[in-house]
Amino acid sequence: MISARPTPFLIAPAILALLFISACQHEPRPSGQNGSEQGRPAPLLLISIDGFRYDYFDLAETPALDRLVAGGLKADSLHHVFPTKTFPTHYTMVTGRHPGTHGVVANSMWDPIRDQRFSLGNRDAVGDGYWYQDGEPIWVTAERQGLTSATFFWPGSEARINRIRPTFWKPYAGDTPHADRIEQVLDWFDLADDGRPDLVTLYFSLVDSMGHRHGPRADAVRDALVDVDRHLQDLFDGLDKRGWLDRMHVIVVSDHGMSRVDFDQYIMLDDYLDLSRVTVSDWGPAAQIWATDSSAEEIFQALDGAHPRMRVWLREDIPARYRFGTHHRVPDVVAEADLEWMISNRPFMAGRSRFQLLGMHGWDPALAEMHGMFVAHGPAFTAGSRIPAVRAIDLYELMTHLLGINAASNEGSISPFQPLLFSTYPARVEELRFQCEEGELRVRIGPAHAAIHWQDLIHVLDPIDGNTAEGRDWQEVDLSLRIDHGGASAVLDDLELGPCLPLPIDH
Ligand code: AMP
Ligand code: ZN
Ligand code: ZN
Repeated sequence: MISARPTPFLIAPAILALLFISACQHEPRPSGQNGSEQGRPAPLLLISIDGFRYDYFDLAETPALDRLVAGGLKADSLHHVFPTKTFPTHYTMVTGRHPGTHGVVANSMWDPIRDQRFSLGNRDAVGDGYWYQDGEPIWVTAERQGLTSATFFWPGSEARINRIRPTFWKPYAGDTPHADRIEQVLDWFDLADDGRPDLVTLYFSLVDSMGHRHGPRADAVRDALVDVDRHLQDLFDGLDKRGWLDRMHVIVVSDHGMSRVDFDQYIMLDDYLDLSRVTVSDWGPAAQIWATDSSAEEIFQALDGAHPRMRVWLREDIPARYRFGTHHRVPDVVAEADLEWMISNRPFMAGRSRFQLLGMHGWDPALAEMHGMFVAHGPAFTAGSRIPAVRAIDLYELMTHLLGINAASNEGSISPFQPLLFSTYPARVEELRFQCEEGELRVRIGPAHAAIHWQDLIHVLDPIDGNTAEGRDWQEVDLSLRIDHGGASAVLDDLELGPCLPLPIDH
């Protein structure tokens, strides 16, 4: 359904850039659309700390985050989507669609229909709604249903998507001081009720930048965490002082984790492929390759088995649990390196030093090191609640539910969160450990989903209806788990585990 909402505000990009200096952009809202105060939902503040790996909580003192964790819900981690990069994962969180559906398939991508490239450094592309129109971000859903939204950065938020923008938004400027971001968010909450946003997004890139430059868990990453947390403290104190903090929902997420990379672990694609006959739209942990002057089959044959640390798939053979294969921006061939390995080419690497890049992300979202963080606070979340790893794809359903609006068509589900909402008791994680022939299997079970921790992977699975006292089953595409009196058995991609015997439970 296309909204009839008018968008009376069209400014050339150059003028836009000038306007940014003084203030955020403001799209006037048509009169009479907003609900009455009584019918209005608790405000929702969605905060992203880019590159905050799930295990960073023990890296630094983070009193502001700890306050939310103590008073609300924390998941072990946030399972993202492929590829685990900023634009695809952020757009998944706000649309409930996989990159292979919403179409933001990389930070750098090629659109064969338009014959155009997108990269996150390209202002015109980043602000062009064409790239985002196959998903409906939550601010569009909210605005269409009469709510007001405000974004202090979020991938996609500068663009008119299906003709709608947030009421308040900012052109991305990574050097905006953190204090200014906090001040603006507080100012939004100070607006008179009929102007105050119902949905606010806030974004910080510093932890990610330090992770890339110095490697995960480096001192500089710790300092960045402390800095972001100090500003969050100011924000939460400010919201508290205004009487908002306990009357609103705050969700803090990150868009992926971070892994170390090694200068000696680069796979040079030009050793195997004539790069003049293909187009590579994205490089790094995974390469997205188009058959421009060759066939997909030729590329596949050239790369299949070429390097022991690299896998290659034709579009139709990409593993089902990546859910990547459908959008026209998904390339003919995807090559993925092992964790800590990168795919590049000799001209690009010439003259690079081993100290330029010590951290990266973009690999299989199930790898623990690619998992982000998730914390939620507010009336719907019971203090002290803990759950296993949750999926980023389910956040859109959760957030539209919290805002009391109808979700657009999406691929997520509220099920993992449903039993937690407004519950009397805090949710607890049941942990079971099993010894399999191939190693130890750890299962973390929540009220409505479970996570399998196997070697360096964390998978999220849904319960199968009809679980009984005799046995409990969970599943996900290419994955399954059964626990019964005899122990556990599991299928993880091509691996069949079991029977695995119960191990004593740690207390
Ligand atoms: P990544 O390496 O995938 O984590 O990308 C992180 C980088 O994305 C940040 O350092 C920013 O420079 C950039 N970025 C984040 N949000 C935006 C945005 N809304 N518009 C443009 N660039 C962005
Ligand atoms: Zn990122
Ligand atoms: Zn990054």
